[in-house]
Amino acid sequence: MSKLRPIEEKFTINKEHWVGNGFRVRNYFPGGRNLLERFSPFALMDYNAPRKFPPSESSRGIGRHPHRGIETVTFAFQGAVEHHDNAGNHGIIYPGDVQWMTAGEGIMHKEYHEKEFLNKGGTFHMIQLWVNLPKKHKYVPARYQELSGNKMGKAGLTEGKGNVTVVSGEFQGVRGPAMTYSPMNIYLMDLEVGAKVTFNEPGDYNTGILLTGGEAEVNSLSCTHKDFILFENKQGEIVIESKTRGTTLIVLSGEPLNEPAVAGGPFVMNTREELDKAFEDFRLGKFGTEEF
Ligand code: MN
Repeated sequence: MSKLRPIEEKFTINKEHWVGNGFRVRNYFPGGRNLLERFSPFALMDYNAPRKFPPSESSRGIGRHPHRGIETVTFAFQGAVEHHDNAGNHGIIYPGDVQWMTAGEGIMHKEYHEKEFLNKGGTFHMIQLWVNLPKKHKYVPARYQELSGNKMGKAGLTEGKGNVTVVSGEFQGVRGPAMTYSPMNIYLMDLEVGAKVTFNEPGDYNTGILLTGGEAEVNSLSCTHKDFILFENKQGEIVIESKTRGTTLIVLSGEPLNEPAVAGGPFVMNTREELDKAFEDFRLGKFGTEEF
């Protein structure tokens, strides 16, 4: 039997807070755990577990705000998220879609519940992940990738017991569509009862899994919805066995940037000075002051 990749820690976050008035999230990192450098290049993960929103006529979300030094990546599982930014991008993502926005040198945007979903109400379920940019790409021009579900890499499992959706990088020869500034593998898995997935990630990649539904054994450890499993940086197999119908999860695995990271508000930079400069530039209107 091959060696299993050791698990460093399993944890869950129970505390929820509002981001604007549309996103009720559990902050897994860096708030729940200070993994800013430990889990590089992933800098933040906010998880909006399934939550019912009543019908509404007034906007739900976050108004105009800046970002710099990162990419904000939004995964829609239920509900619909709309986006507008001052680089002229506009998009709506539905279940199965991902929005990958590179803030780079700076951008202003708004994120909110799409109007039809807002009006009807319903269950909302999503993740927002921040991917830190390497020092040499910190100030790249802003970019927007709308990765609709039908553009994703799809790897079926044997016996039809589930699907692996490849968002970024490669899973067993299937490539994902996301363009990234450092190497990373991001997969979404959807597993039937008894499905078993075995795969390997590079031992030096920071690797973790969030269960977004159901129950599974991960390297023989019992895990349930909302558990985050952080692996040690050692070579070894990852074996996931689904124990319920409709087990869903996300795998994050990336090459560490191995650079200092300083986070504050909506920015992640390499030094305190750069972070101060970001707040100063925002105050001076250098991210843009126009309406969009
Ligand atoms: Mn934002």
